[in-house]
Amino acid sequence: MDNHVSEYETVAGVSVPTGLFINGAWRKSSSGARFTVEDPATGQTIASVADADPSDALDALASAAGAQQAWGHTSPRQRAEILRTAFDLLQARRAEFASVLTAEMGKPLSESLGEVSYGAEFFRWFAEQCAHVHGDYGPAPSGDFRIVTTKLPVGPCLLITPWNFPLAMGTRKIGAALAAGCTLVLKPAAQTPLTAALLVQVLLQAGVPDGVVNLVPTTDAAAQSLTLMADARLRKVSFTGSTAVGSTLLHQAADRVLRSSMELGGNGPFIVLEDADVDEAVEGAMLAKFRNGGQSCVAANRFIVHTAVAERFTNALALRTAELTVGPGSVDGVNIGPLIDARQRDKVHRLVTEASAAGARVLCGGAPVPGDGYFYAPTVLADVPATARLNHEEIFGPVAPVTVARNDEEAVALANDTPFGLAAFLYTRDVTRAIDVSERLEAGMIGINRGLVSEAGAPFGGIKASGLGREGGHVGIEEYLETKYLALSLTPPNKGTDQGGARP
Ligand code: NAP
Repeated sequence: MDNHVSEYETVAGVSVPTGLFINGAWRKSSSGARFTVEDPATGQTIASVADADPSDALDALASAAGAQQAWGHTSPRQRAEILRTAFDLLQARRAEFASVLTAEMGKPLSESLGEVSYGAEFFRWFAEQCAHVHGDYGPAPSGDFRIVTTKLPVGPCLLITPWNFPLAMGTRKIGAALAAGCTLVLKPAAQTPLTAALLVQVLLQAGVPDGVVNLVPTTDAAAQSLTLMADARLRKVSFTGSTAVGSTLLHQAADRVLRSSMELGGNGPFIVLEDADVDEAVEGAMLAKFRNGGQSCVAANRFIVHTAVAERFTNALALRTAELTVGPGSVDGVNIGPLIDARQRDKVHRLVTEASAAGARVLCGGAPVPGDGYFYAPTVLADVPATARLNHEEIFGPVAPVTVARNDEEAVALANDTPFGLAAFLYTRDVTRAIDVSERLEAGMIGINRGLVSEAGAPFGGIKASGLGREGGHVGIEEYLETKYLALSLTPPNKGTDQGGARP
């Protein structure tokens, strides 16, 4: 069967390739199977894409492995130029990307445009990092020889991304992997494979050679990752998604001692101390909570507010929240799009219902929006008991539960009472207090007097059950590099004082 067929579908006015991309060519899956992609604002099918089975994934890995040596030996400048071109191309096609992103994921168009800009930044950032991967040279402590270190690409990587930021979660990994000299197999979320296909198109146009980037959307993620991770040609897995799946992948990675990076779930506390600028805190809360309809790993999941300002903060937050416009992301002026699917909408509603049964007061929202799509009314809950389930689980929806704390100690204790440790937010006017509380918060990232932490130039990642490793920043590229050490004798062996024998 000839699998090498280009198939395109028009989504939101944009022509999108819907095949697998393996070894420089778009093709069908070997079984011919396809799966549908739905617009969460309507529940309607908007496209279908090729459904890779494990044999297709192995083809993709063979292609990445075949291209590794040559790609790993391209000059850093050459890789930088390709990434920089990809940045320019992404910016030039910003509106097209945003329309497709909104169509398959649901977020408001203005946020999709923001995601394209943010996502493109990872290509620019890692283009700038390419030529700054340095080794080291120096004497061994004994003085008997020289220690030379160099950094080399890890090798072919499997990159698995979630649906909530279909573009940025891809570029954050792809940018670092390509900059380091690694080839890759990309597995996008089944709910959002279209943005990933456009991204591959841009990388091709930017000059990425055949085999370096491969794309294998699938409806059987578990079988695909099992197959690929068991294969000795794969040298790394980088995953963004839920902690449950991340943990499964870590177990699988253990069998082969496979390099792993894990960007997992969060349960972000948003703390407002009594000396905070409450108006600013409300502004920050709107961003930290309602961006992406609350479907962000760094979303503020729970609000912990000092008793002295709790009423003022909560009422102001409820007023602002009640003003948000809910609707399809493609409609002008919409602030809150649909949740990704009916399952997620129903889960959010269960959490709200349980909290109100436990004594929380619903100040606004509190129910799904009737009609097509998976909309949930933006919700603020006051007097939420600390023990309520939504204080302990990622809500992933537009729901803000407020709990009070009597002092800094209690706020920190409540904030840290979770297995997660991704992002936290803190509002106070006192810098000393900000540093003191931040040092006690168990989180990988802390927004101080701001509701947004994501930035290509900063290390993104969590502690505790929120993950392993960092993406972006100066350290992002390190996740895709191995350090090799050369012990260099400058005198013939055995002529120095180094007797050697006792060393491992
Ligand atoms: P998910 O269910 O864990 O899925 C994430 C990705 O993993 C998808 O591509 C999914 O494919 C795939 N997958 C599912 N089961 C798998 C398996 N057994 N083996 C290999 N891959 C598998 O998470 P999600 O619901 O899409 O995303 C939301 C979660 O991601 C939240 O917990 C959020 O906090 C987290 N997240 C974390 C970060 C961060 O940087 N820390 C950023 C964004 C999101 P399918 O689509 O086919 O299921």
